Amino acid sequence: MANDVDVVIVGAGSAGLSAAKAARARGLTFALVEASHRIGGRAYTEEFAQGQPFDLGCHWMHSASLNPFVAIADEHGFAYRRDGDWTRAVHHRGAFLTPEQEAALGALAEADERAIERAAEEGRDCAIADVVDLESEWAPYLAYWHSLGLSRDIDRVTVRDAVDYNDTEENWPVIGGYGALVAAWGADVPVALNTAAERISLTADGVEVAMASGSIRGRAAVVTVSTNMLASGRIAFEPALPDWKTAAAGELPLGVHNRIGVMLSENPLAGEARRQVTVLLEGEDTPFAVEVGPYGHAYAVGVTGGRFGSWLERAGQAAAVEHLVEHMKAVWGNDIAKYVTDRVIVTAWEGDPWTLGSYSGATPGNGGRRAELARPVEDRIFFAGEATSTDFFCTCHGAYLTGIRAIDEIAAVLGGAGRE
Ligand SMILES: Cc1cc2nc3c(=O)[nH]c(=O)nc-3n(C[C@H](O)[C@H](O)[C@H](O)COP(=O)(O)OP(=O)(O)OC[C@H]3O[C@@H](n4cnc5c(N)ncnc54)[C@H](O)[C@@H]3O)c2cc1C
Repeated sequence: MANDVDVVIVGAGSAGLSAAKAARARGLTFALVEASHRIGGRAYTEEFAQGQPFDLGCHWMHSASLNPFVAIADEHGFAYRRDGDWTRAVHHRGAFLTPEQEAALGALAEADERAIERAAEEGRDCAIADVVDLESEWAPYLAYWHSLGLSRDIDRVTVRDAVDYNDTEENWPVIGGYGALVAAWGADVPVALNTAAERISLTADGVEVAMASGSIRGRAAVVTVSTNMLASGRIAFEPALPDWKTAAAGELPLGVHNRIGVMLSENPLAGEARRQVTVLLEGEDTPFAVEVGPYGHAYAVGVTGGRFGSWLERAGQAAAVEHLVEHMKAVWGNDIAKYVTDRVIVTAWEGDPWTLGSYSGATPGNGGRRAELARPVEDRIFFAGEATSTDFFCTCHGAYLTGIRAIDEIAAVLGGAGRE
């Protein structure tokens, strides 16, 4: 039976879309199947109101000077901000930090970073929590910020993830929405939406991807679904994936990072410089970062990560909004609540049926698994997606680069030629 296409691509997030574009550029035919009703995956923008975009997933073009989406944003006319117009503050148990407290927090951050680097240099693949200072009064802030960066708590993620990531410290937000940018860039790629891959089988001369609507045969497949989706068993592989592959998916689980947004009747901080405030309430252990009126928009946003993010997601939308409003009141006074409307956007990435989490973190002892996750099976089934990146994991541009890498690998195996 002849193959229908050269490459069957599973998942139309950043990785799947870039794989499709790379295949097209090489003259390889492809079919791209996407389980959900939209492209973009974890890159997704909604609007609170016209002209008030809100990213449910990625928002920042990290490591901007190495990030291909900066040029794509220019090409598609998406504005973004560079560093320097954004400040962060900490509101600690009722008051903003004094300069002395700021210095103490900064010193802890530096000491923690050095301890993480030292552990990695010594070849240790231990949890971040094993080497940082957990006793300091300021430790909850560092733990919280790590849980946002890696979407898992510091006792559940290896120091290797903290040092292997290529961070140029240029984090440029896409004002019109990173998700909207990915959707605009991906709009010229033909995609079969609402089409979930259910089984991927090796055939005599390639692969067969089966969906409820039928199957597609290709010379090779690129699987871009999240590690939690791979580990869930919801896609059957025939023959079963080798142990090293399922272990890699299992040891790179997605954690939780959620964004809680509430529309305001007007922006009470209009005219003020953009500032994110990390708030720790009296009697609480977990800080929460809040921003009111980003880009002058009339909404507020707060972010959660790790176990607490998972717990709050399960507590539901009303609890999440209450959490946000309580923290806003602590910083800006009770009066701020009068601006809060009932229009909310609260993400629940752990419960999202097609991603089952936010982004990947390598568990302690498994710092080397990303390269294994990326390795093809039988030179027929290739793997892309953020978790397969060894330097830009957890990001949208990291996912993009892995899509191109997978097609390069396929072209090398297929001899670079198009369809026979
Ligand atoms: C809240 C949040 C904030 C983030 N912030 C940032 C940020 O500021 N900057 C940044 O760079 N990154 C950020 N990220 C991470 C970034 O969004 C992701 O790393 C990236 O978008 C992942 O792309 P991907 O292609 O690897 O996976 P996905 O986007 O998950 O794409 C996989 C696709 O596969 C589909 N799929 C699943 N199962 C099947 C199936 N059986 N058949 C067919 N299709 C299937 C899914 O629906 C999905 O569309 C954030 C993520 C979250 C959740």
